[in-house]
Amino acid sequence: MKTKGKAEMEFCISLVLILLFGAVIGFVECKYMVYNTSQGIVPDKLNVHLVPHTHDDVGWLKTGACVQNVLDSLIPALLADKNRKFIYVEQAFFQRWWKDQSEAVKLTVRELVGSGQLEFINGGMCMHDEATTHYIDMIDQTTLGHRFIKEEFGVTPRIGWQIDPFGHSAVQAYLLGAEIGFDSLFFGRIDYQDRVKRKNEKSLEVIWQGSKSFGSSSQIFAGAFPKHYEPPSGFYFEVNDASPIVQDDVTLFDYNVQERVEDFVAAALSQANITRTNHVMWTMGTDFKYQYAHTWFRQMDKLIHYVNLDGRVNALYSTPSIYTDSKHATGRNWPIKTGDYFPYADRVNGYWTGYFTSRPAIKRYVRIMSGYYLAARQLEFFKGRNRSGPNTDLLGDALATAQHHDAVTGTEQQHVANDYAKRLAMGYVEAENLAASSLACLVEPMTYSGCEYATKFQQCPLLNISYCPPSEISLSNGKDLVVIVYNALGWKREDIIRIPVMYEDITVRDSAGRILESQLLPLSDTHVSLRNYHVKAYLGQTPSKTPKYWLAFTASAPPLGFSTYTISSTKTKDGGSTRSSVQLFRRQEKSTFEVGHEHLKLTFSAEEGKLTHYVNHRSSVNESVQQSFSFYSGYNGSDEDPQSSGAYVFRPNSTYTIHPQKQDVLTVIRGPIIDEVHQQINPWIYQINRLHKGKEHVEVEFTVGPIPINDGIGKEVATQITTNLESNKTFYTDSNGRDFIRRVRDYRTDWDLKVNEPAAGNYYPINLGIYIKDDKKELSLLVDRAVGGSSLVDGQIELMLHRRLLRDDGKGVGEALNETVCVDNQCQGLTIQGKYYYKIDPVGEGAKWRRSAGQEIYSPFLLAFTEQEEDNWISSHVSSFSAIDSSYRLPDNVAILTLQELESNKEVLLRLAHLYELGEDEDLSVMANIELQKLFPGKQIIKAVETSLSANQERSEMEKKRLIWKVQGSASNGESKLRRGTVDPSKLIVELAPMEIRTFVIHFEKTFKGNVFYA
Ligand SMILES: [Zn+2]
Repeated sequence: MKTKGKAEMEFCISLVLILLFGAVIGFVECKYMVYNTSQGIVPDKLNVHLVPHTHDDVGWLKTGACVQNVLDSLIPALLADKNRKFIYVEQAFFQRWWKDQSEAVKLTVRELVGSGQLEFINGGMCMHDEATTHYIDMIDQTTLGHRFIKEEFGVTPRIGWQIDPFGHSAVQAYLLGAEIGFDSLFFGRIDYQDRVKRKNEKSLEVIWQGSKSFGSSSQIFAGAFPKHYEPPSGFYFEVNDASPIVQDDVTLFDYNVQERVEDFVAAALSQANITRTNHVMWTMGTDFKYQYAHTWFRQMDKLIHYVNLDGRVNALYSTPSIYTDSKHATGRNWPIKTGDYFPYADRVNGYWTGYFTSRPAIKRYVRIMSGYYLAARQLEFFKGRNRSGPNTDLLGDALATAQHHDAVTGTEQQHVANDYAKRLAMGYVEAENLAASSLACLVEPMTYSGCEYATKFQQCPLLNISYCPPSEISLSNGKDLVVIVYNALGWKREDIIRIPVMYEDITVRDSAGRILESQLLPLSDTHVSLRNYHVKAYLGQTPSKTPKYWLAFTASAPPLGFSTYTISSTKTKDGGSTRSSVQLFRRQEKSTFEVGHEHLKLTFSAEEGKLTHYVNHRSSVNESVQQSFSFYSGYNGSDEDPQSSGAYVFRPNSTYTIHPQKQDVLTVIRGPIIDEVHQQINPWIYQINRLHKGKEHVEVEFTVGPIPINDGIGKEVATQITTNLESNKTFYTDSNGRDFIRRVRDYRTDWDLKVNEPAAGNYYPINLGIYIKDDKKELSLLVDRAVGGSSLVDGQIELMLHRRLLRDDGKGVGEALNETVCVDNQCQGLTIQGKYYYKIDPVGEGAKWRRSAGQEIYSPFLLAFTEQEEDNWISSHVSSFSAIDSSYRLPDNVAILTLQELESNKEVLLRLAHLYELGEDEDLSVMANIELQKLFPGKQIIKAVETSLSANQERSEMEKKRLIWKVQGSASNGESKLRRGTVDPSKLIVELAPMEIRTFVIHFEKTFKGNVFYA
């Protein structure tokens, strides 16, 4: 059914009476009343932009049906009046609804989108979080949504709409905002102290320059709402909402047109008092609203009609695009904002900094899947994409949804968290099949026509719990283990492989058959019990055998390629793996000992049971270093002060140092590849300090849990690295794994901070790392997942590793953050195992390690295993491969973020990122050149089209449309001083300026299939 709009509707005669108050109401004589909703902007009045919207949190379980109602009821409501408008945001929901619609409905929706009545804004699969998300995931999930919108509707979203996330990142502003082609960005949550000041100064709306490197060339108009993303109080019109409807039937006792108009004008004027220009926006909707869209539109029709008859203010149906254009058209200057909006507190003692760490296991899972997805898409391209066969789509969708602001944040209920994990696991299984079949194809000799996938590769997703069935095989009777080591980075790289093995007489050979140095390390009791417990919990069975050792060796792999290693039982006397030496130091001993291989040495005091010194003989860094653990006791809210510590909020009651046990033993394991110092800190914290040959950083592996709660106290466990660096209250944390932002303890750039939470109020989100420095040295620490951290004492870095709490914090989740793992219905608190990495450098030299090691942590080697008898596999298969020209590698300051085959089999999506900020490193913060043709040897590039970051429009088109904003007190007025890189179309050489990310759709000569290149 299609409604024709007002023209054919029954006409009504309305009698207009002017009343004493100067206001106007309609007096209705017939049953049907036509409201005039056609009003546009009136330049000399206060314009109230009514923006109808719904906020649909993308959880997998409870909410699908609600959103179907919203979209089902929306279409007839929009068709009933062409002036009505609506914005829709979450593409995961929209796509699910869309695929169930008839062609007729689709046609109608396309018309509504075409006419601007229905507008897609933000446009990612979900409204991603901005604290615990990695920029690559943010880009990927937005690209999925934006490309769908482009393909189905031919439009590109113009507006960022991050109304609910709990604080806002610099990367969101410049990268997922300006660089994606948005003209403005709106959000609801900023710190309560900041908000008061901004309201007073009318600076809720600003020009936000999120990037130090890009400055004004990547700025965006950004608006924080005066309160929340809901309508003003009294204007909620969902069925059953308490707000009075506009009753304009004079025969009824609750006739209230005059009062409602007064309410409207009062609310509009009050908002105008804190807003620059004569435009204010009302966000007409909230979570899962418009399930019966008509109730909202009916009331807004009436309000627009009667308010405009009244005439004091001008009310209109609008969208954030219309609002943005209106703001821009005023030609006004706007205050500037740099940095970000973290951390976020909604009230005194209400710092939303707990979620930076909440659910550390799912945070790690998301990060592992993110790196795997990047590698799997490369392998998918090498093999040739198959829509019906195993592919990476399911993993891409699951990862996209996991970026939602109640997903990777850890602020969802337990059953929803389980569901996100399950979706990721399902996506992984398919991507794992794809990766295995692609590798099987790549190892076939070139003479094969097409791939037979004869080799069945296995992978080890449970290596984190020391469980890897393919490596735990018997190597007797001439059977060998073959390991393919795939490197997704654009440069050659070396790293240490560790896999569990059953036997001690083992030899490792490289692709050329040369014997490599390798080391056997004993499996600690902690690892064995974690392994047995979790294999039982998640796979339902106890492993029949326990491996005796970790086998460690140094593997190297070419850029975008692999090498092969063979592991066999030792046949000769020499050449086998070296068994580690194991030495125990008891606490009574007045001795110190040193571990390390070449340049880097750590000194421990056995007596004190701890690390005391860090020395790098190459860089002449010598620093006193201590490590410690502590826990914060979570505040359990009282009647007078109800704010508890919970999934969102970090509200400690007190802090306690965890002293290493007096009877503690330090176990020192030494060998040619790895030195380790193991320490059971207390019954539920185990720690390993690990040094690798050839690496100049310390790897710390921690195992925390189950956190005891039988004392009735929730605990938030933190660790500290303490040095003598005079860091002067200053530290640096990354924004979504990209730019580093300077933080000063107990201080905010934008307002005078009243400190009421000295720990929680100084916590910041960390995705890549955190560092401190003085005039001689810098201490950098990198993380393996999103985590909260700070520097609460000069010279010290603190990370929060795990949280187990007993109260809900009243912010919406409705559950205490108390994660457990169960075997046979016996549950215990969740144990978290993870790693962080740290290094001390002479000041100014830390960036190289932070950037390159950061990339290696994000993209670990992808390992695939198969078996062979008597060398027959290795001698008949390709043992090393690189997808790029054998003479080429990417510069040290460049990474490939995306290499993905697009639908048509003729195009790939390529995203290249400069890894350094302007001025960050003397050698590497410089323009980089990439030769595109060398990335695709054997293929003819017809053209490389540069696009916006989300690959939904050409970059040049986007630049043309971009609004230029005027900044208060700035002479430049939006003109960029920065030189961006260019592309030489004949030579296909791409330049990248510091921090630049450039996205290309590359078109090749002809359809390719099973494209295999050999190094
Ligand atoms: Zn939300």
